[in-house]
Amino acid sequence: MEFRDLKKQYEANKHNIDRAVFDAIAEARFIEGRQVTELEKTLAGYVGVRHCITCANGTDALQLALMAWGISKGDAVFVPDFTFFSSGEVVSAVNAAPVFVDVDEKTFNIDPDKLEIAIREVLKRGIHKPRAVIAVDLFGQPADYGRIREIADRYGLLVLEDGAQGFGGRIGSRRACSFGDISTTSFFPAKPLGCYGDGGAIFTDNDEWNELLRSYKVHGKGLSKYDNVRIGMNSRLDTIQAAVLLAKFPVFIGTELEACDKLAEYYTEQLADIVTTPVIKENFFSSWAQYTIKLKDKNERDVLQKYLKENDIPSMIYYQKAMHSQMAFENNNDYALDHSVTEELCKTVLSLPFHSYMTESDAERVVSCIKNYFGE
Ligand SMILES: *Cc1c(COP(=O)(O)O)cnc(C)c1O
Repeated sequence: MEFRDLKKQYEANKHNIDRAVFDAIAEARFIEGRQVTELEKTLAGYVGVRHCITCANGTDALQLALMAWGISKGDAVFVPDFTFFSSGEVVSAVNAAPVFVDVDEKTFNIDPDKLEIAIREVLKRGIHKPRAVIAVDLFGQPADYGRIREIADRYGLLVLEDGAQGFGGRIGSRRACSFGDISTTSFFPAKPLGCYGDGGAIFTDNDEWNELLRSYKVHGKGLSKYDNVRIGMNSRLDTIQAAVLLAKFPVFIGTELEACDKLAEYYTEQLADIVTTPVIKENFFSSWAQYTIKLKDKNERDVLQKYLKENDIPSMIYYQKAMHSQMAFENNNDYALDHSVTEELCKTVLSLPFHSYMTESDAERVVSCIKNYFGE
């Protein structure tokens, strides 16, 4: 059994994907081909924002947003302590200070109350200027944008939605990647909507930022790529990757998201009495980048993972280490903040095999193995 079975997904959609890739090769517009523009239109329409700007990966997408906002030295950006490294890395990459904020113990997303405490602490110390908050849609569930927006407005912060794991999720009828002033996603193969290599996208309603982002992603171009008005980067989505995404997108919204919901429902129904299963807030819909359970303590988690492995069931620990504990950020801990929830999660979480092509019998095998471990 695979943790995330990309081969099976390919086999199920081989005909359309092959044709899209071979068409792209035959057309030989490998950079900025028509498929790139078509994908940007399709995704902007789906998300419900004016602009989609594709780029090379989800990390660049975040960094480009910070560059467009002119965030740099002396600025503070608030980032959840429990997330993938990129969410904080990009802040340091533009020479600003990441301030790591603890997460909610139920949703694992940034804790709005602790966000406000962190903002006040930064203002009190007076070393950095609070500029933005990066909210992550962890494991597929959108962050609490109602409260985050309210706090951001109160302190004049910009909201950057890191929807690398959240694409396809929503709150009510409003889709993920529409909640930030700028929002981003990743098309890394294992993300909810993945391509066959690296890829990413940026979403915004703001026309001026759209222009800036399109400049920054192509060497700070002015009128053309040979007229350079600012220092940018080279961060484009390949035409072949855009073609793969255009072929996969209808299946993603047509059947895959729903299949994930069904599998999550099955796991939760079977496991809720023995472990802590994911909590999706009312009116929130996850794109199920991961299905992550919580165990009683580190020992119970580690022994369960070993037991699953002995039974040929893969599982992953997202994440082993809090952001504030990463060596790369050791010079960034200017603020003494409470990170107790994140520290506990790093010891107790475990992500189970999960994807939209999982067979019922594989799902049953995962469930019965966990039940056996607990002697049920
Ligand atoms: C995967 C991921 C990213 C980075 O995406 P890449 O395309 O791998 O650069 C950023 N943030 C989060 C939360 C992610 O899970």
